[in-house]
Amino acid sequence: MICHVCGGDEFDYSEVLWDELIAQWQLAEYEVDYINRQQGEKCIHCLSNLRSIALAKAILSAYGVDGTLYQFVTMPQFESLRVLEVNHAGTLSPVLEKLRSHRLITYPEHDMMNLDMDNDSYELVIHSDTLEHVENPVIGLSECNRVLVSGGRCIFTVPIIVDRLSRSRAGLADSYHGKEDMLNHDYKVNTEFGMDIWKYVLKAGFSEVNIHCIAYPAALAIEAKK
Ligand SMILES: [Zn+2]
Repeated sequence: MICHVCGGDEFDYSEVLWDELIAQWQLAEYEVDYINRQQGEKCIHCLSNLRSIALAKAILSAYGVDGTLYQFVTMPQFESLRVLEVNHAGTLSPVLEKLRSHRLITYPEHDMMNLDMDNDSYELVIHSDTLEHVENPVIGLSECNRVLVSGGRCIFTVPIIVDRLSRSRAGLADSYHGKEDMLNHDYKVNTEFGMDIWKYVLKAGFSEVNIHCIAYPAALAIEAKK
């Protein structure tokens, strides 16, 4: 395995999930293991976890680039790529920032369900582990679709439990992601995604879905094409 962000090939691992979250999410032991890898297995060089590495891989693959994300942001053909990052995409933020036409927006100043920007403004929209916190994920993705140019892409991650269907947590006990000791209302989970993640993308108006994978089923990144 190599890190698609920096090209490193050495990884470190620490557990991320805690008992209360595991119980609320009703995860089986093998599911705990792969979500821990998704969030807690990191490249020792750039500290990207498998989730961020999958996201980088999806970006590189979407643009047909054989190289790392570090190289991608220095390539002349992408210098003026119009990129919208919705909430910090982990360790990718400081890398994507190197693109001249990159813009980062964050919650709560900006809400994915109501983006304050024109149609057809961006070529690439990126978000990472944000959609599960959006009240209505189809509306959130529809907004991403609206601000993209035709043929543009929304590339994102959400934690996906591959052996079950997605469910809304409406009516269930509040569940939070983030660190166990610093829970914040912004990290409340509204949707637990499963194998039918592609339906949300197509319902939102995208014409195509690709799934990019690192160490199945640990880290999956979704490429939605307008
Ligand atoms: Zn790396």
